[in-house]
Amino acid sequence: MNLEELLAFDRQHIWHPYTSLTEPLPVYPVVRANGVRLHLADGRQLIDGMASWWCAIHGYNHPVLNAAIEAQLKEMAHVMFGGITHPQAVQLAKTLVEITPEPLDRVFFCDSGSVAVEIAIKMAIQYWYNRNKPQKHRLLTIRNGYHGDTFGAMSVCDPQSGMHHMFKGILAQQLFAEAPTCCQDQDWQESDIADFSRIIEAHHQEIGAVIMEPIVQGAGGMRFYAPEFLRQVRRLCDQHDVLLIFDEIATGFGRTGTLFGCQHAGVVPDIICLGKAITGGTMSFAATLCRAEVGEQICADHNVFMHGPTFMANPLACAAANASLGLLLDSAWQQNIARIETGLQKGLAPCRDLAQVADVRVLGAIGVVEMREPVKMAEIQARFVERGVWVRPFGKLVYVMPPYIIDDADLEYLTAQMVEVVAEEQP
Ligand SMILES: *Cc1c(COP(=O)(O)O)cnc(C)c1O
Repeated sequence: MNLEELLAFDRQHIWHPYTSLTEPLPVYPVVRANGVRLHLADGRQLIDGMASWWCAIHGYNHPVLNAAIEAQLKEMAHVMFGGITHPQAVQLAKTLVEITPEPLDRVFFCDSGSVAVEIAIKMAIQYWYNRNKPQKHRLLTIRNGYHGDTFGAMSVCDPQSGMHHMFKGILAQQLFAEAPTCCQDQDWQESDIADFSRIIEAHHQEIGAVIMEPIVQGAGGMRFYAPEFLRQVRRLCDQHDVLLIFDEIATGFGRTGTLFGCQHAGVVPDIICLGKAITGGTMSFAATLCRAEVGEQICADHNVFMHGPTFMANPLACAAANASLGLLLDSAWQQNIARIETGLQKGLAPCRDLAQVADVRVLGAIGVVEMREPVKMAEIQARFVERGVWVRPFGKLVYVMPPYIIDDADLEYLTAQMVEVVAEEQP
């Protein structure tokens, strides 16, 4: 197939994320990627601002990750995890137990973030089932969340921007509290927790768990909120005997400046979901960890945990994750994220003066320009590509979370293009 045929076949037959088959949006053919650069089929190179949706933290085609996957490939690409274990899985579990906040130390491996969320929900439900409180099967969350596209995960995504209207009567009916509005602890006001507090008090008999994204709400709106909110949530969960699930699929592995988002608040959940950056963007993989007490309760009275995906603990993915975590933990990642944070602050600052812009916010290696009006994705994307950068806005949000290896010059170029493209939008 030549390039035109390839694109024509794609347009005719292949779905891309959240797209129509009858009104397809343009897609850009990428033939290889190296470091922070995506190489298009026509020879152009784009500086990547998205890290392939939070994943490619070490950039693309990293020799250490490639070598780890190649070495494992020569041993075995895959083996079932039922009745079998292997060194890569054990090594990875050991690292995850070590680096996640104590006492999260029981590990379930799976193949994507959404599934990690399903597993967390299932853990909470089985936990209460075994504690003879099966009525505690509902979830409480905050608005503007995003937790994935499978049915359990969808049920706790924001009810407005999520897909609830299309699946009314099919999705589990969960409880939604107002999302926090305070961005920092120094702005904290008790009123921010009032709605959450009211709902958990009224419904704790039927709530099994609270689920939320700590500190940064990702795909649901790229909102940052005060760590104090998490401390209040932990206090209310303890008070009302409700489990706390943190979905760190986007925030995990250093993105917000701490290894995990919850460390901004010093709060430890009962269950944590990890994914996205876990394999440095090379393979689909995720994990759910819980406290020993949660794991033991699920398995009390000779019960088993009812989940077991085919590709559970895939050795290639585990090898990639071990190598990626090695790279991350052996690096001066805190200083590096601080460097990117400074670069984003400085580079995006001119957006604050633009009439089109409602807000500019930066945390760790996340930079967000919130517009007053929604942008036209296909149009604005094309303008970014013309300028040699890969930025994929959605709604009112023009945002970046580049690979951690981006250097100052590329970061400066990336943010300068954001400022100029945003300035061209209708005020
Ligand atoms: C991306 C994401 C998910 C879903 O992960 P997939 O691997 O896309 O299934 C869940 N929760 C959060 C916070 C995410 O950012």
